[in-house]
Amino acid sequence: MIETIYVEEAIKNHSRTKFILNKFKKSRIILINNYGEIFNKRNQNFRIQKANPCLILAQKKDGFVLPAPEGFGIGSSKNFYFSHMYNCIYDCRYCFLQGMYSSANYVIFVNFEDFDIAIKKTIEKNINSKLTFFSGYDCDSLALENITGFAKHILSIFRTHRQTEIEFRTKSIQKEPFLSIKPMRNVILAYSLMPELMSNSLDHKTPSISKRIRVISELASKGWKIGLRFDPLIHGENWKELYKELLDNIYNNISLNCLHSVSFGSLRFPKRMFKDIFKLYPNEALFASPLSLNNKTISYDVEIEEEMTSFCKNLSLKYINKDQIFKCSI
Ligand code: SF4
Repeated sequence: MIETIYVEEAIKNHSRTKFILNKFKKSRIILINNYGEIFNKRNQNFRIQKANPCLILAQKKDGFVLPAPEGFGIGSSKNFYFSHMYNCIYDCRYCFLQGMYSSANYVIFVNFEDFDIAIKKTIEKNINSKLTFFSGYDCDSLALENITGFAKHILSIFRTHRQTEIEFRTKSIQKEPFLSIKPMRNVILAYSLMPELMSNSLDHKTPSISKRIRVISELASKGWKIGLRFDPLIHGENWKELYKELLDNIYNNISLNCLHSVSFGSLRFPKRMFKDIFKLYPNEALFASPLSLNNKTISYDVEIEEEMTSFCKNLSLKYINKDQIFKCSI
């Protein structure tokens, strides 16, 4: 339940603002000039807000499409990302958003049409390159789909630009709009996964791993392209047994023909964010694991990272081809 919704004056009459507000009939509405007044306020407490976040409806003014950081990709020559939302309804202990924003409130940008324009321009400018767009870098791309309808909206662009890929990365079990429409070969539904035991203690408020695998299996059987994202890989007791069980379970339960790509990324935090995240959970067991500073990033030692990645990669090679496997290193 969202108790308070802040709405920018400029978009108070936007049809999408009305559509979203209609879903929260009991919430208190407060008009504001600019979302930054609330979202970027100093001295906010992320933990306290996370228990009862507000929603902010706003108009994005710029930066609709941005080049993805180096090391973020699944085979295309150029990668871009966009976020129609800031923050997430889930609460993963390793989430970088909690070190990036001082506020846990959710911001939804309602001017989807400006994203359309920017995406089309980017495609036109890069007509000779293979492109992948990543939706929801600053949020979970599908977790609030039933409120925003963003994925349903943005898919229409990719229906007419079939050579360009879009990835929706999620931990949700949101099946719409995908169950109601014909699969598109250039759309990748990418799921973040880790062993159930680890997820139970680190992925707060998310659907369980077994529920996610059931949805992956269902969408794959309908013909949607699936991405598996083992990112972050978590080290701990029995990690080899746990990851073997997880990987065998997934590969044996989905149609491998529908598998687009698999990527592995180690647990890592930008140094400047780690301090803030650690302050939020000083007793979190995850931060007691063997992490150290490696080139501006707090992560496991290189030997641990390499051992985990090779172990999971070798297991995956029993089921899929080498060229379907990627490393996520940002
Ligand atoms: S699902 Fe992703 S964006 Fe949401 S809290 Fe977890 S790590 Fe962060």
